[in-house]
Amino acid sequence: MTGKRGAPAPIYGRVALIGIGLIGSSMARAIRRGKLARHVACWTRSAATRDKARGLKICDSVHDRIVDAVGDADLVVLCAPIGANAELAAAMAPALKPGATVSDVGSVKQAVVRDVGPHVPEGVHFVPGHPVAGTEHSGPESGFAELFERRWCILTPPPGTDRDAVERLTRFWQAMGSRVETMDPAHHDRVLAITSHLPHLIAYTIVGTVTDLEDHLRREAVEDGRLVERNEVIKFSAGGFRDFTRIAASDPVMWRDVFLNNREAVLEMLGRFSEDLAALQRAIRWGEGEKLESWFIRTRDIRRGIVEAGQAGTFKATEPEKG
Ligand code: NAP
Repeated sequence: MTGKRGAPAPIYGRVALIGIGLIGSSMARAIRRGKLARHVACWTRSAATRDKARGLKICDSVHDRIVDAVGDADLVVLCAPIGANAELAAAMAPALKPGATVSDVGSVKQAVVRDVGPHVPEGVHFVPGHPVAGTEHSGPESGFAELFERRWCILTPPPGTDRDAVERLTRFWQAMGSRVETMDPAHHDRVLAITSHLPHLIAYTIVGTVTDLEDHLRREAVEDGRLVERNEVIKFSAGGFRDFTRIAASDPVMWRDVFLNNREAVLEMLGRFSEDLAALQRAIRWGEGEKLESWFIRTRDIRRGIVEAGQAGTFKATEPEKG
């Protein structure tokens, strides 16, 4: 479909973003850049973030009341931490217009179906989504329009969802640069538990453990005739540890909600991981070099596959992929 002077017509009339942090504000910027909606409205919980959003001029309107943001919207996207979804869905439900689509960007999908689904009124479509893209930064100032480019967006529409609504949302994410795949929410949660949630848990663990060990690794040295204490952890953090600290700097509330809402899948994957870790521990103990080497060759090949698939990094070199 084309609009004035042959330019593609906007995919939606009005889009309402509920939450305007990293993901919401990146969507606002990408929608504006691609002219994907005629109007971008947003609501966010705090007056301070609303002021920031107004100052950044990334939305056409910033609302103090959630019902004012979603009223007359064709697409409403929940962009707050997963734990807030049930309350937000209940608050906005009375203002949703028939024929509108409700979606979200949460990193766990079964919990969204459980928490939001019951509040979606008859005649409103419900198509949960998850852009597998992000950084460790939060807030509206950290978003950027290119965040979703060449990244997957996974949609998990419940059985029987209106096909046109799914197709329209698919086009919308594609127009923001994403590749879109549809899957069952339970499958999504298991896949993401191993590819995203477990790596974050490992990062949170290792950074905590190293910090606890820091005192044992302090060393006193004489510099310019003075006795000084050297912190070797900070000094040598150029190794693998530095990458872990970046991941472990991710938003604590968002990740708390991810683990609380994807408990079973994360615990299952953690069990398998612990077994493999024990196998490597044993190989080190018994000096089984061949075993270690063949394991590392296999993982290097996996990394090469990720690079070849174009999933190795984002557009901003300083903001590697997460989600
Ligand atoms: P963010 O930058 O921290 O922004 C969070 C937004 O949600 C803010 O507008 C905040 O409002 C609002 N909010 C926070 N707690 C709330 C509550 N209890 N009730 C109502 N609103 C609340 O977060 P984000 O990184 O954009 O993440 C948002 C969602 O995207 C999460 O569900 C997450 O799972 C998903 N996601 C994140 C990433 C990532 O890498 N960050 C990737 C993919 C998907 P105020 O600032 O006004 O308090």
